[in-house]
Amino acid sequence: MITLKEALSLSKDELNKFKDSLKAKIQADPELNAYIDVNNVGEGVPIAIKDNIQVKDWSVTSGSNILQGYIAPYNATVIEKMLNAGLSPFGRTNMDEFAMGSTTESSFYGKTLNPKNRDCVPGGSSGGSAAAVAAGLAIAALGSDTGGSIRQPAAFCGIVGMKPTYGRVSRYGLGAYASSLDQIGPMTQNVEDAAILYDIICGYDEKDSTSANIACEKVSDKLNPERKLRIAVLPEYVKDASDDVQKAYTYAVESLKAAGHTIVEKEMMNPKYDISAYYITATAEATTNLARYDGIRYGNRKVGKNLEDTFIQTRSEGFGDEVKRRIMLGNFVLSSGYYDAYYVKAQKVRHLIKDNYAKIFEDVDLILSPVAPTTANKFGELSSPIEMYLSDIYTISINLAGLPAISLPVTNAANGMPIGLQFIANAYDEQTLFDGAMSLEKQVNYNA
Ligand code: GLN
Repeated sequence: MITLKEALSLSKDELNKFKDSLKAKIQADPELNAYIDVNNVGEGVPIAIKDNIQVKDWSVTSGSNILQGYIAPYNATVIEKMLNAGLSPFGRTNMDEFAMGSTTESSFYGKTLNPKNRDCVPGGSSGGSAAAVAAGLAIAALGSDTGGSIRQPAAFCGIVGMKPTYGRVSRYGLGAYASSLDQIGPMTQNVEDAAILYDIICGYDEKDSTSANIACEKVSDKLNPERKLRIAVLPEYVKDASDDVQKAYTYAVESLKAAGHTIVEKEMMNPKYDISAYYITATAEATTNLARYDGIRYGNRKVGKNLEDTFIQTRSEGFGDEVKRRIMLGNFVLSSGYYDAYYVKAQKVRHLIKDNYAKIFEDVDLILSPVAPTTANKFGELSSPIEMYLSDIYTISINLAGLPAISLPVTNAANGMPIGLQFIANAYDEQTLFDGAMSLEKQVNYNA
């Protein structure tokens, strides 16, 4: 598959031909189920779009039954920016319903398969975007990351996925899951393409009240893998990962040393607190965000005996089990009597996590961490929702702290599945993030 960088120099005719062949390839492999449908806007380089990002006049459903029939009335800011930069939204990719999940199994459209091994999940919630890029069915894609949904599917499918600093990329036109955590980001074949796409979508937006009014300096022009960096490694933290992931971590550390970087050992607080703080915060915000889906304003409606019954019937039928579970959890942690014990406490833990990162960044440029404790699991292997939540240990603290991170494939496990690791940088230091990632990418020379 050609890279984004290469595709940007194709002529309109070449791009049109390329899009026809891409469409044919997508239609020839319906079993993979990476795409929900394939529409195209504009004459530029095709980029696949997660089904929670609005493209004007396209259906947009966040992988849910409740939004069937809803048509986006305007473009998300990232889509406007893409169109201005000569990129074309091309196809909606599959996702866990409302981005809640780590496997893409909770989608209304059925599961997406992992192109590296079709018995395995592609990760989630941006599993469709990751599978499309990994299968050669997209040059690049957009995903969204609330607690790892870009980085983890990227790691499971052997591609690159990047979550920007909170506030760098506008959330205007993104279906909200947990507003204080959500960020849109690039999913690509290599680090340089991720930098190019990140440059295109980043920037202050007055339509998003949490957008950071801080200049976005172009990173892709200045990529420098030769920069020597101080990189923190986390020997204790990594011990919760499988042997394969630990081996890959050691291999990456050795590779970074060989590339001339300075390695410093640091400690992170116990990730079990991250899980609690995240699942309380995310469900509380999700409950509030999803209250708007009442059958009156958007998508599907199931008419009941009276107004209240219409709300109940619409929501009972429209939402899937995982979404309902989170709505209940979120209401519980916000209810009077429990608010202080859960929600307020989770916000305090969030501060501690932020402080922990800030302390490490006083001394280093980047942190190297696993993305997931294992490689992609087989379908049906996770026996309970709790087990799935626990698999998020390495990604969610980064969203709680609002930091940028990038996942890149480093090696394959004994079972042949890719292992991705992530770099984490200080807030707004995307340049260092990409420089370090490019250095590691060069050094390990991962070839699926
Ligand atoms: N797996 C996490 C969750 O289910 C993260 C999802 C995401 O980043 N959207 O909440």
